[in-house]
Amino acid sequence: MHLRRIELQGFKTFSQRTVIELPRGVTAVAGPNGSGKSNLADAIRWALGEQGTRPLRVRRAEDVIFAGTATRPRTGMAEVQLVFDNSDAWLPTPYSEVVVGRRLFRSGESEYSLNGARVRLRDIVDLLSAGGVGSGSSIVSQGHVDATLSQRPEERRSFLEEVAGIGRFQARRDQAEQRLTATRRNLDRLRDLVAEIEPSLDTLQRQAEVAEQGRELESELQTARVALTLHRLAIVHEQRAEAEAREQTVAERMAELSATTAADLRGQAAEAE
Ligand code: ATP
Repeated sequence: MHLRRIELQGFKTFSQRTVIELPRGVTAVAGPNGSGKSNLADAIRWALGEQGTRPLRVRRAEDVIFAGTATRPRTGMAEVQLVFDNSDAWLPTPYSEVVVGRRLFRSGESEYSLNGARVRLRDIVDLLSAGGVGSGSSIVSQGHVDATLSQRPEERRSFLEEVAGIGRFQARRDQAEQRLTATRRNLDRLRDLVAEIEPSLDTLQRQAEVAEQGRELESELQTARVALTLHRLAIVHEQRAEAEAREQTVAERMAELSATTAADLRGQAAEAE
């Protein structure tokens, strides 16, 4: 991570636009007491989203705006821009240079920007924390070194871990653990469900077999019904053929009888004549 440049205007002692270039390597800021060296660190902390007044060494939020001197009037706005080199993509954004900006007006209105576009503080915090930078942990302020050395080992450890950028890995580990816990809970619920369903599986299996048998029987019954109907139809056909044959015989017999009767009648008539 390389903070390439700091641009300030109206922030604490920096009444006029001030651009401070920070080449790679170590940069030391030297100056008389009270000349504003720590204000530079405050500016970085502030632009990274610091919300507290104490870490910024002010009483009220608007105290970061240049308050004016005997010769210079106060300003109505404080602005700080941090220009990060992102050519090695340490921040998850396609820009090769990331400019994080914050502004505060005396009215209380405040603005955050990312490469010139207005964003929410959350967006900046999320982006920077992905690169392991937070408003508090990345900066060791005046007096903090002593405090850090006199801390209990666990407290010092958590401070050093944050400064070393372990925080983001811990955040990822916490997220992964949360997901794992959620998955475990889901698994437990599934186990409960399985335990609930398993005892009724035998009954369900039996019911399924009975249903299957029922279906087979139903289909056999259907086949038998069709066979029976066909059989009945064949009998009816046979009976009909027999009846037709009988009808034919009777008709022939009747024709014979009527022929005989007619001949007899004709004979009798001739006799009578
Ligand atoms: P030291 O070497 O003693 O730590 P320093 O160089 O770090 O000093 P800072 O603490 O950064 O100095 O700056 C303190 C100065 O900033 C004070 O003179 C204070 O009046 C001035 N200052 C702080 N806030 C404002 C403001 N809003 N407007 C104008 N000046 C301010």
